[in-house]
Amino acid sequence: MQKHLRVLAIGWIAAAALLTTSSESPAAERLVVRTYNNFGVAAEEMTNARALAGVILRDAGLQAVWRDCSAGCADALGSGELLVRIVAAPEGIVADSLGSAVVDLQQGAGTLATVYADRINVLASRTGVSEGTLLGRAIAHEIGHLLLGTARHSAAGLMRALWSDRELQRDVAAEWTFSREDVARLGRGLATRSCQTCSIIAQIIPVWPSEK
Ligand SMILES: [Zn+2]
Repeated sequence: MQKHLRVLAIGWIAAAALLTTSSESPAAERLVVRTYNNFGVAAEEMTNARALAGVILRDAGLQAVWRDCSAGCADALGSGELLVRIVAAPEGIVADSLGSAVVDLQQGAGTLATVYADRINVLASRTGVSEGTLLGRAIAHEIGHLLLGTARHSAAGLMRALWSDRELQRDVAAEWTFSREDVARLGRGLATRSCQTCSIIAQIIPVWPSEK
């Protein structure tokens, strides 16, 4: 489920429990997320995906502020900012994987997440769940890896490694939000977050192909 590349690790989710989540969040921490829609996901689906991911993160005490950088964002990446690319799955990506996150295991943080829109589309067709919903959940899951600073998965909640068709179709809310344990870890992670590789990753971004 996880590939370790020296200090970097890729955490991924695949399409193949129960938890409780407190909605009693303290004042939400602001989290700027730059999105790069290199796949050409329809505007409506992107809007729905951001809205859903925003709700999931809000329930974990995080206020997501979305910036569409598909046409480029020239300003330097802030320390708390994250990057989410939406592309077609490149060759060699594990079958059924919906996304990945680059996590610096030494620093316990990451900045760059990728979601595979073509895989999302296949899953949406197969399950009848909307692309926006699947995309929003996948984005929130990968952001979870970046903030939790690990490629590991949880037994319950959104950070499960495998999402079965049945789970997607039955749509139990607790399966698509962060578990209570993950919410606690997310709060700690953001408070201590320092990502010295952020600026390097931001420089790499513009040279990546659109992978359409
Ligand atoms: Zn994952």
